[in-house]
Amino acid sequence: MKLTPYGGIDEIGGNCFLFEAENANVLFDFGRSFKNEGIYYAGFLLPRTSQGLTDFLEFNIIPKINGLYADDFDVNFPGDRKRIQGCFLSHAHMDHYGNINLLSEDIPVYMGETAKIILTSVQETSRPRFGRPYIRPPSEKRPSNVRTFRTGDTIQISGLTITPVHVDHSIPGAYAFILEDRKEDLVIGYSGDVRLHGWRQDLTADFIRIAKEKGVQILLMEGTNIDEDFDQNEPQVQQDVSESIQNTKGLAIANYTLRDIDRFRSFYIAAVENSRKLLINLKQAHLLKLLQRDINLDIPSIDDPSIEVYQRPKGRYYRWEQEIIQDPEIHIINDPGFEHQKYIFHCDFWNLTDLIDIQPKNATYFYSHGDPFSEEGIIDYNRMMEWVKAFKFDFRQFHASGHAPRKDLQHIVEEIAPEILIPIHSENPEKYKEIVDIPLILPSRGHSINLSQ
Ligand SMILES: [Zn+2]
Ligand SMILES: [Zn+2]
Repeated sequence: MKLTPYGGIDEIGGNCFLFEAENANVLFDFGRSFKNEGIYYAGFLLPRTSQGLTDFLEFNIIPKINGLYADDFDVNFPGDRKRIQGCFLSHAHMDHYGNINLLSEDIPVYMGETAKIILTSVQETSRPRFGRPYIRPPSEKRPSNVRTFRTGDTIQISGLTITPVHVDHSIPGAYAFILEDRKEDLVIGYSGDVRLHGWRQDLTADFIRIAKEKGVQILLMEGTNIDEDFDQNEPQVQQDVSESIQNTKGLAIANYTLRDIDRFRSFYIAAVENSRKLLINLKQAHLLKLLQRDINLDIPSIDDPSIEVYQRPKGRYYRWEQEIIQDPEIHIINDPGFEHQKYIFHCDFWNLTDLIDIQPKNATYFYSHGDPFSEEGIIDYNRMMEWVKAFKFDFRQFHASGHAPRKDLQHIVEEIAPEILIPIHSENPEKYKEIVDIPLILPSRGHSINLSQ
């Protein structure tokens, strides 16, 4: 068994791991690498999509593998065409799924049912790169590119067994994988993105237990927060927000990630506890409506009396927006003069201009993200703080990361106790040496390692 990491090494995200066994090749995640893209492109200097993959391949932003890309991109590299029997998606974050719409039509993409719902909402409410969908509907000529799984399923591919196991992360439907090569008697674990401090830490506990039972020998383990020690957890975020709203006279404004359904739940509970309503935007309403099909998620329903939807004024609405606005189950607010003291208003960075219409007084602004770290992130943050100053908001920051802190990473690895650890999805992978006494392999991007004993 050979492993070649094409992304997710010395960076947070951009995961792309190719496993080559005797009779099968599989890819784990195919995400966009914001780090590698950002070295060459930003702002108005963007890779041209009119030139196919040229502007991405020039700087090795995406890997040069024959057989990986859709035929109409018409790219050819030295060497034989590789047959990849499946791409396994851990969860619906861009740094894991962002390039799956470039894949060859012959490569099925395996993902959790929830991830499929989220990506359906993403592609219906925004335009994917190259205008190519992530989820291709079946046509007369070929089936859909997507095959879904749930925890408890196993997928057999020419001598390989892949077992997806749910984990807790800042988006629903996140999975880790256990890959078994029966011929070589080799068991490999892949954490995806993981934490133990969300509303559903029991899911990650299941992964730890199943990885132990299966005897994972080599563990590819994320290390986003390998350098961080914190105790914030999601239930604490909910309590802090709720307490703080008790002292808010006017509007409570919540800036949180649209697809972080755990955080949505925290603000929803805070709304109910304070006899307020959570006022979400059309995009989040679209996602919630689709997610309701997933009975295992148990999320508040779109017609819940504590949820209403804000229709920002504009000239023309997309069809998906019109469908939400006209949905009889959904309570729409289109007058910015609503009773501010009765609402928590979800307002992310891109919707700040809504506040010009709403003109909140005595409002509290809940910034529910981590501190910015990228250059652009810091510029955006400073700009947002100017809005906070101009409107004289009371500013609060409550957040719990989507990723486990150092002590939990240590716990997960020590419990699974692999023979070899391969740190991924981290800017400081070598720091694992400080917390676990397990031999590390620190691979480099594009270089293969032999995993056979
Ligand atoms: Zn990630
Ligand atoms: Zn993630």
